[in-house]
Amino acid sequence: MPSCRRLPASSPIILAPSATALSPVPGDGAVPAQVMFVGIAPGRFGGDVTGIPFSGDRSGILLRSMIARASIEEVFITNLVRCNPRDERGRNRDPRAEEIENCRRHLEAEIRMVRPRLIICLGAMAWRQLAGRDAPFDPTHPKIRRHGGAILYPMYHPGYVIRGAYAARDYIRDFRRLRRYLSAR
Ligand code: URA
Repeated sequence: MPSCRRLPASSPIILAPSATALSPVPGDGAVPAQVMFVGIAPGRFGGDVTGIPFSGDRSGILLRSMIARASIEEVFITNLVRCNPRDERGRNRDPRAEEIENCRRHLEAEIRMVRPRLIICLGAMAWRQLAGRDAPFDPTHPKIRRHGGAILYPMYHPGYVIRGAYAARDYIRDFRRLRRYLSAR
């Protein structure tokens, strides 16, 4: 049985969980919103259980506390895919290219609905999907790209900080820089 099926753009997302996910998790937040955050996939102990992206797990707590701390309002939070991808042992895994492609029309529909000024790509996977396969991912010196009418902005995924690969104080600084970038526009 395929783990993931492509649905027509008009399909209500709630009708089609993948074989392994508890339920599909659509984006959540203000509509319209000036800022849209795009992660990878709902977490096994987070969005897959709560039904809300970036909630109920460490990544979600960190991301939402950074947004609040930087006083960024009017945000919409979503993912490349709506179903939690699991490996054969039931652990989180990265979504496959086919799964990202299957969900792409839902992401694009959310972007059209939310009409963000800025799309924050959380991690290289989200960045490459939206900015292009060859676009260099460098959140410390953000090189802006565009997606339709929105500006694409690269940031590290909160999971990267939780794993200790990037310092929390630098992540705080990156969110301050984002705040300044927003205020200047
Ligand atoms: N939770 C999400 O919703 N997305 C991620 O990428 C990670 C955790």
